[in-house]
Amino acid sequence: MTSNDKKQVPVRPGLWTTPAPPEEKPQLTGSECTACGEVFFPKREKGVCIRCGHRGLKDVKLDRRGKIHSFSVIMQQPTKFFLGQAPYAYGWVNLPNVRVQALFTGGDFNKLRIGLPVELVIEALGVDEEGNEVLAHKFRPVQE
Ligand SMILES: [Zn+2]
Repeated sequence: MTSNDKKQVPVRPGLWTTPAPPEEKPQLTGSECTACGEVFFPKREKGVCIRCGHRGLKDVKLDRRGKIHSFSVIMQQPTKFFLGQAPYAYGWVNLPNVRVQALFTGGDFNKLRIGLPVELVIEALGVDEEGNEVLAHKFRPVQE
């Protein structure tokens, strides 16, 4: 590796596990309240449950599969703060214990449907100012 090599960096640290491929797959990391069981994503750094006020959250790995709760396909390129390219699809996924916001991937956005089974992938979003490849969590339709 030379100093010219560009790095892969997460869009934000701490969103998912970085497993040893190919045996393990990444999982989103959230917080679970040890009192009421509420799960949050992204992780709540301050350690306080906003549902019951309990001070005691533990890190949990979230299920990799869920179903689309809602989505939008955006045709217009947003501000420069978004590193991806239009058109892109964005929305909410119901995982077994928590609803998470994410981008969608996997080709034809016309195939997205509410209730469609999807699974987590970590994919390039774009390139930052230093030329690093920025990775983001996305969901794609489950291919059986
Ligand atoms: Zn709680």
